Amino acid sequence: MPSLLLTRIEELVTNDPEVPCADGLGLLRDAAVVIEHGQVAWVGPSAAAPAADRNFDCHGGALLPGFVDSHSHVVFAGDRAAEFAARMAGTPYSAGGIRTTVQATREATDEQLAVNAGRLCAELLRGGSTTFEIKTGYGLTVHDEARSVEVARRFTDEVTFLGAHVVAPEYAEDRDAYVELVAGPMLEACALHARWIDVFCDRGAFDADEARRILRAGIERGLTPRVHANQLQHGPGVQVAVEVGAASADHCTHLSEADVAALADSQTVATLLPGAEFSTRSAYPDARRLLDAGVHVALATDCNPGTSYTTSMSLCIALAVREMHMTVPEAVRAATVGGARALRRPELGRVVVGGPADLVLLDAPSYVHLAYRPGVDLIAQVWQGGRPVRSPDVS
Ligand SMILES: [Zn+2]
Repeated sequence: MPSLLLTRIEELVTNDPEVPCADGLGLLRDAAVVIEHGQVAWVGPSAAAPAADRNFDCHGGALLPGFVDSHSHVVFAGDRAAEFAARMAGTPYSAGGIRTTVQATREATDEQLAVNAGRLCAELLRGGSTTFEIKTGYGLTVHDEARSVEVARRFTDEVTFLGAHVVAPEYAEDRDAYVELVAGPMLEACALHARWIDVFCDRGAFDADEARRILRAGIERGLTPRVHANQLQHGPGVQVAVEVGAASADHCTHLSEADVAALADSQTVATLLPGAEFSTRSAYPDARRLLDAGVHVALATDCNPGTSYTTSMSLCIALAVREMHMTVPEAVRAATVGGARALRRPELGRVVVGGPADLVLLDAPSYVHLAYRPGVDLIAQVWQGGRPVRSPDVS
């Protein structure tokens, strides 16, 4: 692969702690970047840029690390537009809506699932998410969860087994049997192609003991836990997540002081998903409280057909700033290095020599425009491992 010099970068967000910068973004102005063999080979001021095989003019735009979307549910069939419209007309959300998608997913062929997931993954990538996680959780049988894992694995290394999304409808009268199914044969069928195990620990889903049973079975099988926690009400989800050493506790909308303290004392990232509050017209998590307590925060889309049908990390950044009182640098860091931490991929979310050339170019002079110009597609180009996504690189 020939080397490529990106020139005329007005503002470069490196997230490199070696680059002095008050807000932690490691900002460089009037910068250049060289990509070679899929990696960042050089970063520095334009005036000092070395020659490369080809040049790409960034026309004074801002360049950022690719977004790391650490929470999505894009393997499913059907849509729930009617449910969304009803909710906007006043019907409240409960976790049971997931069952509508379960039925459609079970009826779909593998190819239909793959086509739908592929469409959404392409959307994620065009939107600047150069790494994304995908959860299962709309099959809820051994067979349907196993094929969901297989479909997800076609699109990402970051596959999460979420057989414990809700209790499968045919086990409604025997929850214990479903928990044993998830922690036993279903886990066995899914573990080989998954990296993570997740449980929805909340009202209408699984309680603390059920979550512990499933997460510990996953850990024994070599998976690393993450938890859907405290989305719908106060509860034990965050405490369970910290207790089992989860990489992230996701949602974190209803937290006690003890929850915040537990997160601050742990390696567990609080992943905030403002697309869900936006789409369910619910109160947003208190990001300031988490950040001020020293909790590591990530932003992700939660892309799913029920409660957050968006692939746009740009929207999530704008919502985090406007609705959750995060500063723009905090939101951008949460969408990049925060997501990388939530996926335990420290090489991601940064523009540093030797790191992957996962980059997002904005048709705007500053990263601030991601929040300042909500709803506008500002992304001019995306490179994933040095490969252009939106259009061929031109000299
Ligand atoms: Zn989710």
